[in-house]
Amino acid sequence: MICLNIAIRGVVQGIGFRPFVFRLANELGINGWVKNTPSGISIVAEGTADLLDMFVVRLRLEKPALSSITALEKKILPHPFGCSKFEILSSEENDEPAALILPDLAICSECKREISDPSNRRYRYPFTNCTHCGPRYSIIQALPYDRAKTTMKNFFMCPECEREYHDPMNRRFHAQPNACSVCGPHLELWNSRGTPIEKHDSALRQTAELLREGNIIALKGLGGFQLLVDATNTTAVNNLRARKHREEKPFAVMFSSPEAIRYECELSDGETKFLQSVQSPIVLLRRKENILSRIAPNVAPGNPQLGVMLPYTPLHLLLLNEISFPLVATSGNISEEPICIDEHEALQKLHAVADYFLVHNRPIERYVDDSVLRVTDGDEMLLRRARGYAPLPILLEPSTPISLLALGGHLKNTIALQKNNMLFISQHIGDLENLSAQNSFAHTIEDLSALYNEQPKLILCDSHPEYSSTQFARNKYSTVHAVQHHLAHVASCMAEHHLTKPLLGISWDGTGYGTDGTIWGGEFIEWNGKEFLRAGTVHPFSLPGGESAVKEPRRSALGMLYELFGEKIFEKFPNAENWFLENEKKLLLKMLAVNINTPRTTSMGRIFDAVSAILNVRLRSGFEGQAAMELEFAAAAVKTQRYSFHLTEQHNAQCRFIVEWKPMIEEIIDDLHNGISCRIISARFHSTLSAVIVSAAQRMKYSDIVLTGGCFQNQVLLKNSIASLRSLGYVPYWQKKIPTNDGGIAAGQIYYHHLTS
Ligand code: ZN
Ligand code: ZN
Ligand code: FE
Repeated sequence: MICLNIAIRGVVQGIGFRPFVFRLANELGINGWVKNTPSGISIVAEGTADLLDMFVVRLRLEKPALSSITALEKKILPHPFGCSKFEILSSEENDEPAALILPDLAICSECKREISDPSNRRYRYPFTNCTHCGPRYSIIQALPYDRAKTTMKNFFMCPECEREYHDPMNRRFHAQPNACSVCGPHLELWNSRGTPIEKHDSALRQTAELLREGNIIALKGLGGFQLLVDATNTTAVNNLRARKHREEKPFAVMFSSPEAIRYECELSDGETKFLQSVQSPIVLLRRKENILSRIAPNVAPGNPQLGVMLPYTPLHLLLLNEISFPLVATSGNISEEPICIDEHEALQKLHAVADYFLVHNRPIERYVDDSVLRVTDGDEMLLRRARGYAPLPILLEPSTPISLLALGGHLKNTIALQKNNMLFISQHIGDLENLSAQNSFAHTIEDLSALYNEQPKLILCDSHPEYSSTQFARNKYSTVHAVQHHLAHVASCMAEHHLTKPLLGISWDGTGYGTDGTIWGGEFIEWNGKEFLRAGTVHPFSLPGGESAVKEPRRSALGMLYELFGEKIFEKFPNAENWFLENEKKLLLKMLAVNINTPRTTSMGRIFDAVSAILNVRLRSGFEGQAAMELEFAAAAVKTQRYSFHLTEQHNAQCRFIVEWKPMIEEIIDDLHNGISCRIISARFHSTLSAVIVSAAQRMKYSDIVLTGGCFQNQVLLKNSIASLRSLGYVPYWQKKIPTNDGGIAAGQIYYHHLTS
């Protein structure tokens, strides 16, 4: 008889791990106990050596589908306890928390079946959940994960729920948010003054009726408020746009089933898998051409893609079952503020946007937006990492002794925390453009540090002196290291692929503060195994009006054309005459001539903008990246000749080569002059950029090539580049689990420090 102590770390709490251990021990005739500890699961098992071997092997092999084991340590105890049975003991909490917090999980098939079965006691109950599904991260207040430390603590289970909760053989054994209509949270429907008008199931039925009539509903969902409206009703969608001050940015749509989606969009098996996964993200799909679409044209104007999702909570599912149309489901916020989580806050902020509020009394501890992904090359590519993914860590090897906190960038901000060998990335916080977002940013820092009981020793931030995240770091902490933006992008991609060997990173985005004080964004970064260096960049140009060029692609175009033609712009490219009023034109040219408010940039994002304007695709942008997106959508899916460019060598250790784009712009203008279609020119432009990447790879002689930065959200660029690199034997890496946009900067800052210290 041997007594074995087994400690398991990883995602092992809140998903039925202990009942699984209990059943396995009983099956094998092993005695002892299992309990949750702050760092995971602890088992004491007594039996023969053979049986215990079998037990450990089967623990690993048969563990619950949602769990993952990061470490399993065995220790033989000298004196068996002589247990007579196997038990599940209650949690202990003196140790330091290191157990992983699970993300919120989409409703499972068993719970789905129960809420649609009239004979089941959970029939039509919108807060049904079990150990396989339901809220986690959005309700946890502290570790270990126990009901008393969640926002469910004030709901007392009825005898039936209590019985399920304590029965190790039940699916709801220790399902912390376990509830039913007798004892759990319930719905209320409020008008826009906050007066309750319906309760319980009639609130849900009434909401469906209001949606049918074209009303805008603010729904308190899983990780925050959403604004819902009939996606087939143009007037209703227009009202939402007008009231939310969101003119063109596409809305996501929730459909009742994959079949309903398939009517509107091309849907591969891989995409279906992600839509139906426990993460249940918004998936960007290609819309079908030549169909009589039901979706109102103003849902995603001029966009060949549609962000779609399936109902992921019982509440969404019941609501979609009541109606026969898909719903626009967009973040419940105003002007890019963080989404509301509290019904009173929502009422105050959204009363002029929503006609009615469907709320409930289960508090949301922290906001968690819907995640957004797209499938590329059969794999996911997360563009917004939040619900379903946060706060699961990326594992780093080896671990560093000190804990690090990284504050990320400015747009699409996330923060990251490193503890031991785990890199935790916060949920998407958003653009730190307003006070409300900055408060959420500060709150998330406190929240993440408190959850993992970690006081970070070193703070990492972007090197842009004016980012509010940088200023926050400098004001609040004493030990702060800045990491250059484009180096952080490269490190971010390296972190997710566990890369450590020398390589070339292509770091292309809209804006980042360069070490020379100019605006970088078309960078070639070398990792030589010791340090990150800027190997090359693109020929710089001036941005008339600086920051304002981000919203006006025509300014980037003017800057590039000025670099090319000087004062002769309008002679060489008369189309540009119509971009500005006469006096604007004079002023901008003067600014360029005397170098006032015309910062120099090497931004690839601005090159995309400029070409978009030159092709008259878009002169002004309604939202970040719009001009580049429309240029991508314009590209014909045909093989084309690339435009000319060359790499010039520099005698400069800070930057060894420059990509000269002037011949490309001249040829684009020639093509336009010769009546070549915008579709072909855009395709040629994209293949030129992939050829630039290949040339840089050949120049630098590394076989591993990292493709990162916001520009690689562009599918045409990404796919072309992967194919070109592979055909020549290079190994391209791109970001799948950590966003390639600035949502990945915080993780990159940590990995950068990890590699260089
Ligand atoms: Zn379930
Ligand atoms: Zn109950
Ligand atoms: Fe960036």
